[in-house]
Amino acid sequence: MIVVKVGGSAGIDYDAVCADIAARWAAGEKLILVHGGSGETNRVAEALGHPPKFVTSPSGYTSRFTDRQTLEIFEMVYCGKMNKGIVERLQRLGVNAVGLSGLDGRIFEGRHKDSVRAVENGKVKVLRGDHTGTVEKVNTGLIELLLGAGYLPVLTPPASSYEGVAINVDGDRAAAALAVALKADALLLLSNVPGLLRAYPDESSLIPSIPANDVESYLEFAQDRMKKKVLGAAEAVQGGVRRVIFGDARAGQPVSAALAGAGTVVE
Ligand code: ADP
Repeated sequence: MIVVKVGGSAGIDYDAVCADIAARWAAGEKLILVHGGSGETNRVAEALGHPPKFVTSPSGYTSRFTDRQTLEIFEMVYCGKMNKGIVERLQRLGVNAVGLSGLDGRIFEGRHKDSVRAVENGKVKVLRGDHTGTVEKVNTGLIELLLGAGYLPVLTPPASSYEGVAINVDGDRAAAALAVALKADALLLLSNVPGLLRAYPDESSLIPSIPANDVESYLEFAQDRMKKKVLGAAEAVQGGVRRVIFGDARAGQPVSAALAGAGTVVE
């Protein structure tokens, strides 16, 4: 079983990702796709007059402040346009894909964090009304049902809180939790960069491999959102996933290339 997470940043070639997945699926490989949608969500939020607000925690992690209206825009894009766009591509390629959010069947569950500590103008502030959280539990029943019946699950945030409230969760870490829960052989985190770069944005500074027992020390090379990927990779390998690969989803055969060792391989 391979869990593929494809991001939502500019430059990602979803046609290439879906074609590669369809070919591997047809050859009998079991796969699950998790996707993001941040770039498109930012565009739609701007267009709807509710521009995105990003906050940086005191420890340096950037996240989207998700009030109720933002959550609804987030769902329109992630569960709507992005999810159905990927399902449609896969269906056109002959794969019987089913698109679900983490709310459906409570696939992704976690604690709702209503407030977030954010650094603004050098001061730490507490912002309330946030609909975010972290996936703590993956309920695999529905996924196993689908896989067993020959469907390819296409999953996206949000997750469900324990109270059944939709929460915005990081897709990379959700994919990591999923890979652990399914005892996946590999987790691919595909984005619009060749992998983890030692000197971002210099693409020639690609870090080709990271030992599984030392992932956290590579956090220092990751800025902003890349940090969550490194964290997700650490969680996956600690949870027993043998290989995590940060790969390039901009062209070619992104899944096959990553599995063949292109990108940054954590093992
Ligand atoms: P996605 O939405 O595709 O999952 P993110 O935007 O969340 O991706 O994270 C990937 C981004 O992280 C890259 O586009 C890049 O701008 C940024 N980044 C920060 N530091 C690094 C680094 N050291 N190596 C690679 N990318 C980095």
